[in-house]
Amino acid sequence: MDTEDLKTRREALSDALSRTDALLDSFQDVLKQDFSGSGHERRDFTQTVERILPDAAPEVEETASQEPVHADERLLMTYQSLCSDAMGCTRCGLCRTRTNVVFGTGCKDRPVVMVIGEGPGENEDLQGVPFVGKAGQYLDRWLAAISLSRETNVYITNTVKCRPPQNRDPYPEEKDSCFAFLKRQIELVSPQAILCLGKPASTLMTGRPDASMGALRGKFFFYDGIPMMCTYHPAAVLRDLSLKRPVWDDLKKLARYLGLLPGGAS
Ligand code: SF4
Repeated sequence: MDTEDLKTRREALSDALSRTDALLDSFQDVLKQDFSGSGHERRDFTQTVERILPDAAPEVEETASQEPVHADERLLMTYQSLCSDAMGCTRCGLCRTRTNVVFGTGCKDRPVVMVIGEGPGENEDLQGVPFVGKAGQYLDRWLAAISLSRETNVYITNTVKCRPPQNRDPYPEEKDSCFAFLKRQIELVSPQAILCLGKPASTLMTGRPDASMGALRGKFFFYDGIPMMCTYHPAAVLRDLSLKRPVWDDLKKLARYLGLLPGGAS
């Protein structure tokens, strides 16, 4: 807008405001911050005009912070701020017994699979990383068998980010308290598919709190439009090797769905 145009518009605005003076009484609440006069005295609109159409645009200094931020960087910043929130979280009683908050690990940008376990165990609590104990090593072997790995295309987290004492299942209220973090993690990393491990994660994510693992495993569900498979937890399979076969069946089904096992591998 050139100087002449701005001048004309400022005059027009001032004129319009003056002509609508009679209507302003009905907008006292909105305008009282600008006008201390009451009733019918002539009002001065100088400040209002200045606020709506400043006489001259303030000079803007070029700074490094005005460089465009890439979408991936914004996503990472948001993820890191969510992670920082979790680090200081005291929303449930598990904060009192944890050593570390175990937030998540792996590929954070559209992973092929997001794995959701139940909660951190002893090693995870000590190291602050999910699935690093025996069950975690076993999980890595499952993933490798269908061309997945936490280093490249898998993101791993749990329903609760703090260790339940004595590795008990997280209580429903603990899962509920922590769900906001999980929900946001899913939105931010945007996985192509979700793999729930064990009953606490499977019942939470399918919204079927009373279902057995046998009833949930091996079927596709959808969470917010994302295909989701449930299967047994690696720790359960280490305790009961008869679960190996159904787990392998479930993994193959997921892998075929994702095109990771071409040619009808079995
Ligand atoms: S388990 Fe989740 S909700 Fe509870 S204190 Fe840890 S981060 Fe917070």
